[in-house]
Amino acid sequence: MEKRVLGRTGIEVGVVGIGGEGFENKPYDACEALIDRAIAGGANFIDIYNSNPDVRTNVGRALVRYPRESFVVEGHIGSAWKDGQYYRTRDIEVCRSSFEDFLSRMQLGFVDIGMIHYVDEPADFDAVFGGPVLAYAQELKESGIIGCIGMSTHNTEMALRAVGTGLIDVMLFSINPAYDMLPATEDVNSFFAEGTYDRDLTGIDPQREELYRRCETEGVALTVMKALGAGMLLDGERSPFGQAMTPVQCIHYCLTRPAVASVPVGLSTLEEMDAALTYAKATDAERDYSAIIAGGPRTSIEGSCMYCGHCAPCTSGIDIAQVNKFVDLALPQEVVPDTLRDHYALLDHTASECIECGACESNCPFGVSIVEKMHTAVDLFEKASA
Ligand code: SF4
Ligand code: SF4
Repeated sequence: MEKRVLGRTGIEVGVVGIGGEGFENKPYDACEALIDRAIAGGANFIDIYNSNPDVRTNVGRALVRYPRESFVVEGHIGSAWKDGQYYRTRDIEVCRSSFEDFLSRMQLGFVDIGMIHYVDEPADFDAVFGGPVLAYAQELKESGIIGCIGMSTHNTEMALRAVGTGLIDVMLFSINPAYDMLPATEDVNSFFAEGTYDRDLTGIDPQREELYRRCETEGVALTVMKALGAGMLLDGERSPFGQAMTPVQCIHYCLTRPAVASVPVGLSTLEEMDAALTYAKATDAERDYSAIIAGGPRTSIEGSCMYCGHCAPCTSGIDIAQVNKFVDLALPQEVVPDTLRDHYALLDHTASECIECGACESNCPFGVSIVEKMHTAVDLFEKASA
């Protein structure tokens, strides 16, 4: 499986990871089977948001059979358990005891990413970053119990604020093509409401584009939740695109957003796990989501590159989707960041090799003016650095 680096942390993770949902209400044997299947398929990144003591115990027992350096764990600060139910807390004593419970049940002395759990509202953001929860995360980091600090959110504005603090290295953020095309909301429940997808989708929300750009240029890694849109995108009847996407296409959509390093999927059966893990071996045609998004009855994203790669192959071997991504990341900035310039320089073929044959443009379902984009790329990355 392809590995990517979690931004400035330097931690390497498989592009398909393991989410926590699938372990709920399962006996140990079933949890072990899921973990074994995922690890055999190349997944090494596991997000456990769960506060359910049984999940923590079962997952810990299954993982301890593997060398510690062979997997990367994301554990949540502020996810707690009371009266047989999950709840989110900012009570610092509960945060402490719940995280200690996580360490002990998971049989871990070190957690790669300590994820501040689920910050979706401005008042909560202020309380977390101005109070004991962030201080506790920093204390864990200083004492070497966690390697870096992350934050999970569904709210783009909160995610942008977190990036702005410079304290958050990894974000767990809800991404899928439908969410990208919906306006930001503080009300997380509206994301999961069926009616949400009945609205017209008119292109990627500029605030979400801004988030992807900031994360990419500042080295904040995005890890993904809700990649399958809580199953709606897999159902042609309920999807706003009017056709069912496959898990592979949903995962590929996320992995073609800037800054995204891994998509942990919470799957409850071995068959579902296999369907996600096939991403590693899927062909470009199987990953290609462009026709579904372009063909949606209520979508209009003409002219914007979706980084889907459907325009390949380029006559000159240029990775058009990557070049376009770098252009879109660089354009809103006054000065092209060195990191972007470095990434561009590593391409096997750069935009100046474009012979303007036009072969790609007829393959693009979104009507992108690719030749024009190549000119822009030359101006941004090649002339300026010459
Ligand atoms: S130019 Fe078109 S086909 Fe190529 S990656 Fe962008 S949206 Fe996809
Ligand atoms: S127009 Fe340029 S980018 Fe498109 S296929 Fe031809 S050489 Fe490649």
